[in-house]
Amino acid sequence: MPDSPENFEEEEIKEEKEEIKIINMEPSLYKQTVSILRYHNLCFECFGRQFSFLGTATNNTDRAKAILLGLTMECHQLLIKNLVLEKFTLFDQNPLEILHLIANRTGLIQAKKMLEKWYRAHPDEVQDHLTINSIRSPCDLCTDLLTDTTLQTLVQKIQILIRKYDYNNFLVGTYVNPAQGDKEDEFRSKFGVTNGESFKANLNRLLGVRLQKTLQKPTKFEKPDLTIMVNLRESNIPKIEITSSPLYLRARYLKFVRDLPQTHWHCHFCRGRGTHKFTGEICPECHGSGDMFPSSVEDLIAETLLPATGGEKAILHGAGREDLDARCLGAGREFIMEIKEPRSRHLNYLELTQTINKQHGKSIHVTNFTVASKKDVIKFKKNSEFNKKKYHALVELAQPISLEEANVKFAMVSEQLCEKKIKQRTPLRVVHRRPDKTRTKIIYSIECKYVDPLHIYLKVLAQGGTYIKELISGDNFRTSPSIATIFNIPMVCAELDVVQIEELQV
Ligand SMILES: [Zn+2]
Ligand SMILES: [Zn+2]
Repeated sequence: MPDSPENFEEEEIKEEKEEIKIINMEPSLYKQTVSILRYHNLCFECFGRQFSFLGTATNNTDRAKAILLGLTMECHQLLIKNLVLEKFTLFDQNPLEILHLIANRTGLIQAKKMLEKWYRAHPDEVQDHLTINSIRSPCDLCTDLLTDTTLQTLVQKIQILIRKYDYNNFLVGTYVNPAQGDKEDEFRSKFGVTNGESFKANLNRLLGVRLQKTLQKPTKFEKPDLTIMVNLRESNIPKIEITSSPLYLRARYLKFVRDLPQTHWHCHFCRGRGTHKFTGEICPECHGSGDMFPSSVEDLIAETLLPATGGEKAILHGAGREDLDARCLGAGREFIMEIKEPRSRHLNYLELTQTINKQHGKSIHVTNFTVASKKDVIKFKKNSEFNKKKYHALVELAQPISLEEANVKFAMVSEQLCEKKIKQRTPLRVVHRRPDKTRTKIIYSIECKYVDPLHIYLKVLAQGGTYIKELISGDNFRTSPSIATIFNIPMVCAELDVVQIEELQV
């Protein structure tokens, strides 16, 4: 029924009548504590973090101690109150039993002392089944990983491992076994804990604070020099894994010799192994070296940079590349050396440049290094418009052609397209999402092969961004010239593979 003005009025009157209900609550933290301690041994940190959303300007251990001491005092009060014929219980439990739970399950010293004092004054109340354990059993949630002693040992171990690195900042993290999360979820649902801190967050925070103090270096969340991971995936004995983020050094190189590739060139035949994968025989192609070429610009530079930085691997990212038999003169080519797992970061770069030039001056020359970043490497790689791309294409013809006829056409293709510019209007298949304009692209080479009367196979090397399918079909004369117009037979590209991407040649 649509709301009439009368209905609205009724609603408003109802709202006015609503009153705030006052509900008187009994403290529930102690009740929750007693039910947890009936079942579990817990360290202060694990107990406290179950209530980490309660109270500010404190920490998990202090939270735990506050609740446990409060409960100890509550029990003490009831013990004093006890009369000969009137005994008080808390949550249906004898306060002495609760004190034993606190003392034995958490090791709270005040509860232990309180019990000892009580029994000295009331020896008749000593009961056989209520003992005071000298040592608490390991924490059910963290197996005592979050205790002071364990954390201190862990920090010391990290400190020793980290000594060999030169770094300005770090980040610490943990890999936790998924079973840990399940254990915590189960614990929380069992005891109605709604919003506690997780074990992982707790451990990361405690370690971060301790390490900052010990190492006297700040933590950094984005691209830290060192990443320290505490691995608890396989066992509760922490494995420490340290990764040093790459060092990026930018410079320009000139290459004065031929037959020196830009980067290390592994033997394609054995994939750098030097031997046959299965038979173990020496590779006939590289004679066991695993390399196509004994050296490269990358190798010559790495030879100096690796020992100086203590890195594990050096990778050259060039702003394009030249053929290995081409020289690179003039201003040279910009490049970035990526040093993986470096130990030293603060180096005399000028000295390093001089060393490289002194040792390999006949082959290469390197300008002074400056520190760069991964972003710069990405920029280098983005220039794909100027790359050369090699494609393989299987083409289907609309009418059969003989081998002789095809050979004539192949020669025409070679003549009209190789090293020639073509005009391409945005293809019909993409024009709905790209601006309709005509681009000029360079076709570097086309190799043709006759497959059968209805198929030919093409190997095309073209400028980045060339539409190869349209180069074949002509796309309603939007690409010109095209292979279809040269053949004067309608054709389509049946299969297309990008087989190689070459960066701009200088
Ligand atoms: Zn614990
Ligand atoms: Zn080989």
